[in-house]
Amino acid sequence: MDIYQKALKLHSKNQGKIEMKSKVRVRNKEELSLAYSPGVAEPCREIKKDKDKAYEYTARGNQVAVVSSGTAVLGLGDIGPEAALPVMEGKAVLFKEFANVDAFPLCIGSKDVDEIVQFVKLLEPTFAGINLEDISAPKCFEIEKRLKEETNMAIFHDDQHGTAVVVLAAVINALKLVDKNLEEIKIVVNGAGAAATAVSKLLLDAGAKNLIINDIIGILNEDNLDQYDLLRQKLIKRTNPKGLSGGLAEAIEDADLFIGLSVGDILKAEMVKRMAADPLIFAMANPSPEIKPELALEAGAAVIATGRSDYPNQINNVLAFPGIFRGALDLRAVEISEDMKIAAAEAIANLVGDKLDKKYIIPDPFDQRVVPAVAFAVAKSAVQNNLARIEMDEQQIKNIISKN
Ligand code: NAP
Ligand code: MG
Repeated sequence: MDIYQKALKLHSKNQGKIEMKSKVRVRNKEELSLAYSPGVAEPCREIKKDKDKAYEYTARGNQVAVVSSGTAVLGLGDIGPEAALPVMEGKAVLFKEFANVDAFPLCIGSKDVDEIVQFVKLLEPTFAGINLEDISAPKCFEIEKRLKEETNMAIFHDDQHGTAVVVLAAVINALKLVDKNLEEIKIVVNGAGAAATAVSKLLLDAGAKNLIINDIIGILNEDNLDQYDLLRQKLIKRTNPKGLSGGLAEAIEDADLFIGLSVGDILKAEMVKRMAADPLIFAMANPSPEIKPELALEAGAAVIATGRSDYPNQINNVLAFPGIFRGALDLRAVEISEDMKIAAAEAIANLVGDKLDKKYIIPDPFDQRVVPAVAFAVAKSAVQNNLARIEMDEQQIKNIISKN
């Protein structure tokens, strides 16, 4: 039986993949009056006096909503909210399995920015974090920006920022192998969608200085600004030097790092040959990468990363989002900042240590050290940047992360 038939069977046998479980038993009158009326009134009164007590007396502090409009579902596109539900259930499973976070798949019947923002804002009394998932660009940019401004939850769009964190981790280590610095290299990002935008921004925030973004219409520059939303317009001003024109073939000249988050098979071997010495190729379009790893190697690539599990160096978001949310929730963080993302990327990169090799620039997704290391780095950054609702020293952070 192929994987798709097996998956269908697994989903139907279990009627989905998740369920709600209670932490307390209700087997007699006393247990009933403690878990529910009349006893439950007391935690209600305490929370009424101080809303933050919800973190103590309810599950809110460990609850994340996985919110999707089903408009950009992995490899499937705009398939609608009902069809997106298996993916969101899957995400909830990963949250629980990797980081013991209780995630709720909420596929919603709207594509309207104002409606989605309003829906998510109304969830704040119940959730400590929001994982936006598979919402298409450019709407995802506006939705995330507004939610960050208008709520105090940990807001994270995984398709953008989970990817950006793992790419940064892999870039940090790949650069060590070729003995180059992020500040000095020339980077070409191909694609200007959800993932490419976030990756570009995080690389710049981490120190990159020379970055060109190219998409289907060519190199982004100030002449074609009006085709893009405000967020990407701001990004273009920080990146592509004025006066650059052409497409990938022009942009790629002397580049040290190619980052593809676009479509398959558009980076040609002869382009790789025109890159700087020891070029790094991150070809992450799925399922077909921008260039086949074999071809890139033949053309002289020093390190290759893809989005696929059948090649070395898979850029897998599961390295980032479980630990990021674990750390953010444990410190009751009011947002997930750029600093927290950079801290997460550095933590992931550091785990590779002296095993660093061109076929091992990021840890395996099942490496048990990843979630606690990322959670610790994120929690520490939240405290340092005054984004945590509670004060904790390093030892206390370690304790709470290992407990959860
Ligand atoms: P997206 O928002 O749809 O972005 C795709 C971008 O690529 C758009 O800017 C699109 O331009 C551009 N593009 C299309 N054809 C192009 C061409 N021939 N040359 C240059 N740019 C072109 O999608 P996304 O979520 O960012 O994902 C992009 C790709 O990366 C997908 O294949 C996805 O599976 C992969 N991805 C991989 C990982 C991972 O490996 N962990 C993570 C995230 C994404 P237009 O909008 O003008 O068409
Ligand atoms: Mg996704």
